[in-house]
Amino acid sequence: MVQFAIPGFRLTDNAIDKDFKRVTDLGVKINYNSKIDKDKFQTLKKDYSYIFVGAGAQLSASLEIEGADAKGVFEPLNFLFNVKQGKESGIGKNVVIIGGGNTAMDAARTAYRLVGKDGKVTIVYRRTINEMPADQGEIKAVLEEGAEIIELVAPEKVISKDGYVKALLCSKMELKGVDSKGRPTPVKILDSEFEISCDTIIPAIGQNLDIDFATNDLLKADSKTYKTQIGNVFIGGDALRGASTAINAIADGRKAAEQIRKQASIDFRLQIQDTRQRLSKKELIIKRSKRVFAKELKELPLNDRQNFKLISETLDKQNIVEEASRCLYCDEICNICTTVCPNFANYSYNIEPVKISLQKAIVTEGKVDIQFDKQFEVKQKYQILNIANFCNECGNCNTFCPTSSAPYKEKPKIYLTISSFKDAEEGYFLSKVEDRITLIYKEPGGIKTLTENKDELVYETDHALGRFKKETFTHIEAKAKTPCVKEIHFEHAAIMSVILQGAKNLTFE
Ligand code: SF4
Ligand code: SF4
Repeated sequence: MVQFAIPGFRLTDNAIDKDFKRVTDLGVKINYNSKIDKDKFQTLKKDYSYIFVGAGAQLSASLEIEGADAKGVFEPLNFLFNVKQGKESGIGKNVVIIGGGNTAMDAARTAYRLVGKDGKVTIVYRRTINEMPADQGEIKAVLEEGAEIIELVAPEKVISKDGYVKALLCSKMELKGVDSKGRPTPVKILDSEFEISCDTIIPAIGQNLDIDFATNDLLKADSKTYKTQIGNVFIGGDALRGASTAINAIADGRKAAEQIRKQASIDFRLQIQDTRQRLSKKELIIKRSKRVFAKELKELPLNDRQNFKLISETLDKQNIVEEASRCLYCDEICNICTTVCPNFANYSYNIEPVKISLQKAIVTEGKVDIQFDKQFEVKQKYQILNIANFCNECGNCNTFCPTSSAPYKEKPKIYLTISSFKDAEEGYFLSKVEDRITLIYKEPGGIKTLTENKDELVYETDHALGRFKKETFTHIEAKAKTPCVKEIHFEHAAIMSVILQGAKNLTFE
């Protein structure tokens, strides 16, 4: 699809060839011109442990209206394939495209390049531009290049003369309510028919799988696991999701490969070397305070678009490096909630990243056996505490959080005074009595404490107690305080040890 359908003004053959080479250089063998029928599919299933179907959605949905068999109605993918291969397209001067997806935009932009200065390209879409599934950039380009988009219009009939398209009869639509996917539903306005005169109609109204080796039902798959109903057969890209973008198909391929790897128990870890320059917190804050604009992409001028020259050049190496260096390291530090809170109620603190093998205690007839439980890891150096006494729950931090978190609800809530902690239903309080520092957690189910001694951490709940080495979090002692306890887990103790690092530095005396 990428090679034969995406127009050359969007993607060069050279770029596609490079991608192919990267794949074949890895040792992947590509068998061209190999149609897979039922027998071949069975052979493939026997010969290979896993199959991934990435066949695209190459069957254009047909226009089911009266007169759609007239000469001048073109199937969109064939139209794009023919033009890409330099074949005669056969379109006229006045082209109507039906649809609002990326294929419709590609067809419109390709037609614009063929109709000449005295030609016309019109897109009709039954919802509004806002609901068009095409990429925003493609819609913008279509409009800039001069195609007209008529919104809220649905085709009714192809009007022809002597077997050739003469016009498209349409009805006006209005949006009422929403469909099962939450999209506004277009409803026909009675007696609103009108004609759009044209000599060519390209209905880009959807694409379907073009596969006959298995039924659509058997190839149905969960969009997270990519597993079809056939054992060890996975599917992704347009074949799974319907016509979409190449980038979605590439992402599906990667994620499906991950699923296959997991199922096949192949241990594989992508070694990505993070070569970014390490910055201190201060340097990061300074970097974020300065706005560096993106590079302006060079684009072919609008008066030079009725050809198939590439529109956007890719950046050269130096510009790519400069673009990448605009990275604000938000994977390392965000802290937006600390800056948007009018009450300074979100507090940022630094920790040493934590990676510990958590242990659990199995209690059998009074005997305690310590066993490995799971890995516990906190990778980010910068953490947030919400100071309950300052927070009036205005929700501002929720509005601005780039990950849609509500820090005032989801971050650990710490109380600064014992009286406010007493009144609270849930939260933390740090008690300091001489050298003894204890983080207390209260929830409707009870109280938990983590006390820091010289080399030890002591975690205590109403039912259990655990003592750990401060540095390694390995057990010194674990015991059940009530006979009903059979298994003790210490993940919350580890979480509390992280919160303790921040709470200790909170001083408002
Ligand atoms: S909800 Fe609380 S923490 Fe968030 S902005 Fe408002 S006062 Fe600040
Ligand atoms: S809670 Fe949201 S705003 Fe606050 S640091 Fe995390 S991601 Fe950023």
